[in-house]
Amino acid sequence: MRPVFRFAPSPNGPLHLGHALSALLNHTAARASGGRLLLRIEDIDSARCRPEFEAMIYQDLAWLGLGWEEPVRRQSEHFADYRAALGRLQSMGLVYPAFESRAEIRALVAAREASGQPWPRDPDGAPLYPGSAGRLDAAERARKLDAGTPHVLRLDTRAALARIGRPLAWLEEDYGDIPADPSAWGDVVLARKDSPTSYHMAVVVDDALQGVSHVVRGRDLYAATAVHRLLQELLGLPAPRYRHHRLIVDAAGHKLSKSTGAASLQALRAGGATPADVRRLIGLD
Ligand code: GLU
Repeated sequence: MRPVFRFAPSPNGPLHLGHALSALLNHTAARASGGRLLLRIEDIDSARCRPEFEAMIYQDLAWLGLGWEEPVRRQSEHFADYRAALGRLQSMGLVYPAFESRAEIRALVAAREASGQPWPRDPDGAPLYPGSAGRLDAAERARKLDAGTPHVLRLDTRAALARIGRPLAWLEEDYGDIPADPSAWGDVVLARKDSPTSYHMAVVVDDALQGVSHVVRGRDLYAATAVHRLLQELLGLPAPRYRHHRLIVDAAGHKLSKSTGAASLQALRAGGATPADVRRLIGLD
């Protein structure tokens, strides 16, 4: 079987040098192994993703000299697949609605921390979900649902781990088995009121559906792999091999990000940079 790689950008801003590194590493690894390279557009967040950013992704990758297989999978066209996976987890009794808004959760956390108790954080630094919804009794839950109260759907991580009943790990290229600790993330969101899926859910479903055998992505997603392994295991999906690559940082040592306005590939190109310059800037030559 030919290895299958994928580059999976979100069209919520212009690509920057960090994306170029991911795309080029996937391309090189696919070439070297006689594998395939897929492009996946991760556009589940309709509020932030825009067609013009998607168009820029195609332009940037073509400019870098990358090819990919058609058709490109656009996640927004496959919500039914993610709903089906969610339905399977629901039928296992592992999903519950949580009604607190983000602001309410922040207030809860702030109140607790004001009284001197630290609140546990996930590996990205976000406060863990306090989990009160998990303790709502069935009648109260049904009443809120009937009343159309906005909510997200969360994974009951503890119950999910109990169901698996053994430690999880993932295979990290060049390192070997890495123990996976999904509980560090608490009860992750699987679907929101404005999106029938979440990043974790969609990425796991798509990697399996597309037969992805090798996931090459930034180190910022290293810890999230624990959640992906848990979902794969619950849904009976194969686990790809993973390679989390170094991140490109700015002069101040911060990870490049769209939100902090890192120089885009478009801007570099407009300023006269060549694809060879990009490779040099990200240390590939
Ligand atoms: N869509 C994610 C991003 O743009 C990448 C997801 C992944 O590679 O698993 O950061």
